[in-house]
Amino acid sequence: MDALIAHYHEIGLKGRNRMFFEDALVKNLRRALEGTGYKRVQRNYGRVLIELNPDADTEEVIARSARVFGIAYIGAGVQVPPDLERIKEVSLALLKDEPFTSFAIRARRQNSRLEMKSNLINVEVGSHVQGAIEAPVDLSNPDATVWIELFDDSGVVYRRRVKGPGGLPVGVSGRMLALLSGGIDSPVAAWRLARRGASVDFVHFHGQPFTDPSSVRQAQELAGVLARYQLKAKLHLIPLADAQREIVTHAASSMRVVLYRRTMVRIAAALADEMGYKALITGDSLGQVASQTIENIKTVDDAIPGVEILRPLIGNDKQEIIDLAIEIGTYDISTRAYQDCCVLFEPRSPATRSKVEQAELGESELDIDALVGKALAARETIQINFP
Ligand code: ATP
Ligand code: MG
Repeated sequence: MDALIAHYHEIGLKGRNRMFFEDALVKNLRRALEGTGYKRVQRNYGRVLIELNPDADTEEVIARSARVFGIAYIGAGVQVPPDLERIKEVSLALLKDEPFTSFAIRARRQNSRLEMKSNLINVEVGSHVQGAIEAPVDLSNPDATVWIELFDDSGVVYRRRVKGPGGLPVGVSGRMLALLSGGIDSPVAAWRLARRGASVDFVHFHGQPFTDPSSVRQAQELAGVLARYQLKAKLHLIPLADAQREIVTHAASSMRVVLYRRTMVRIAAALADEMGYKALITGDSLGQVASQTIENIKTVDDAIPGVEILRPLIGNDKQEIIDLAIEIGTYDISTRAYQDCCVLFEPRSPATRSKVEQAELGESELDIDALVGKALAARETIQINFP
């Protein structure tokens, strides 16, 4: 195997922006494949051709490409010249690799130097295969398919197709800041928007010294998994304990969780303003816990008027979120025990239908700006890279 051909769906529909999307995809692919021994990554007629050096780690190249957002699927096979004899030979060799019951040949050409209609290529290659292996052609439901993609003076023949994550290349939707707890939902939320082209950085609030550092370790490991898709990210670690103590001292206990959240989003919004993030992202899902009723969500939003909070999981069931967490590789980390800052001084009965006025009353004795400023100043930022 010495070449991969990556296909994308959605980017192709972007009209004049198409170049911008394709450039981002090529750039991201190159970055994703650093150190794997690839030779060249190049745009080619609505697909991307990835050529490999002889010593490349093929499986690693496939695995990493399959995580690059924007890619619908990848064909992994052998590069060929526009030469029918060579194409026949490679097709047969690929089929001989693994047993099969029926097969199909599917050729597609774009500006190929091989001037032969695709249908004829299918017939020629098909009968060459049947000359060597006794197997029926099945065009509707073949057990094995050999795809032949030809363009200019090159092409790729492959039998193996690997599904990509779809979506849009990271970066084309701008930079955003995800509030990352150590739990299941927020990493999935961040992943969903990275798949829509957001370049996501993370902010995690911890309760040290009242808690141990376990939530920070969680956030770091989760950000590490997400960086496999994003290729790089910053993780801002912010102490919330001082602000929490103020809230506990001055506000009704039932309002604590909502006030913690309002404080978090204020700090995050200030960070976004400073760093140029276009929106915040949270893992809220409607009604999942007390802090996620529509009333409480509104009370949280009210703390940062004019700042967009994206909540991609708002309409998802827990099980759907869990399934996705397993798929992207964050679930096992998220389900470990850790000390979350929000359970500090957790009241027995948190308000489920808070009103903005209650929140404002609770905050009336606090110097919010000072708390936000102090927390922001105490932040620590870690750069997370992949690989
Ligand atoms: P998660 O599984 O993401 O922790 P959850 O179901 O536990 O979500 P909450 O604890 O109410 O729900 O948190 C809602 C959202 O608030 C989280 O998805 C996350 O975006 C944000 N959040 C909560 N705690 C923190 C934290 N310590 N640091 C950063 N963001 C947080
Ligand atoms: Mg949580």
